[in-house]
Amino acid sequence: MDGIRDLLDRVAIVTGGSRGIGRAVSLALASRGANVVACARNAERLASLASEAADRRLPGKIISRTLDVTATEKVETWVDDVATDLGRLDILVNNAGITRDGLVMTMTDEEFDDVLNTNLRAVFLMTRAAGKHMIRARWGRFINITSISGMMGNTGQANYAASKAGVIGFTKSVAKEVARRGITCNAVAPGFIKTDMTNVLSDKIKEQVLPLIPVQRFGEPEEVAATVAFLASPAAAYINGQVLVVDGGLHM
Ligand code: NAP
Repeated sequence: MDGIRDLLDRVAIVTGGSRGIGRAVSLALASRGANVVACARNAERLASLASEAADRRLPGKIISRTLDVTATEKVETWVDDVATDLGRLDILVNNAGITRDGLVMTMTDEEFDDVLNTNLRAVFLMTRAAGKHMIRARWGRFINITSISGMMGNTGQANYAASKAGVIGFTKSVAKEVARRGITCNAVAPGFIKTDMTNVLSDKIKEQVLPLIPVQRFGEPEEVAATVAFLASPAAAYINGQVLVVDGGLHM
């Protein structure tokens, strides 16, 4: 396959790599030459991703390894194993995310905690574990997937919006802490992207959202992935602590 190969020999971790945006990100990074370790909880979907990369003969390989990113006691060892087995760790894409939508007055403690644990706390666990390898190498890229919900709020998503707003504050703080070590940290904020996460929304909600998007369509996972791949690339070396919005103009 021909194309830009500016990530050759880089090693990337993509959380939530089995489906949707994470799957597209894994393929985009491997297309540019990176060797990608994709994680998720479900092993079967991950395995199909690795074989897709091999079938398409991408310049980088995709290795699938299961991990629940909320498993506090496992994350650091899992990340260390990736760095040891692949010889380095250059890029971390914190993409794994969930929704448990509901109005705040009826939201359960569990619905709030599950979303915060997966969408925000795990970003901290993964960043801390990966950061030590990047600091040693004096090069690295953290790319965190947030959401325009975290910037504008959304009815029925108080837990999700709080987690994604937290990711933005976390991203900017990390960006300030690690920049002097040759590491950047940025966030990508998708709008309404066609994945399993949005498939569950009713046709009524989709019909209400569509007219609000100036480009008049929902986004493709590959359009978010292209932005992530750019932020991982050498061309983005001077972009740090930013939130790149990929939403067709829904929030501006
Ligand atoms: P998706 O299709 O539901 O995929 C979510 C991915 O995360 C799956 O691979 C899932 O795999 C993994 N995952 C969930 N919990 C996990 C855990 N505890 N440990 C490891 N992996 C886990 O979602 P998506 O739409 O691609 O969303 C990806 C990211 O983009 C999320 O952070 C989401 O909040 C954000 N986002 C999406 C949209 C959108 O419109 N789709 C908009 C804005 C932001 P398993 O279930 O097998 O673990």
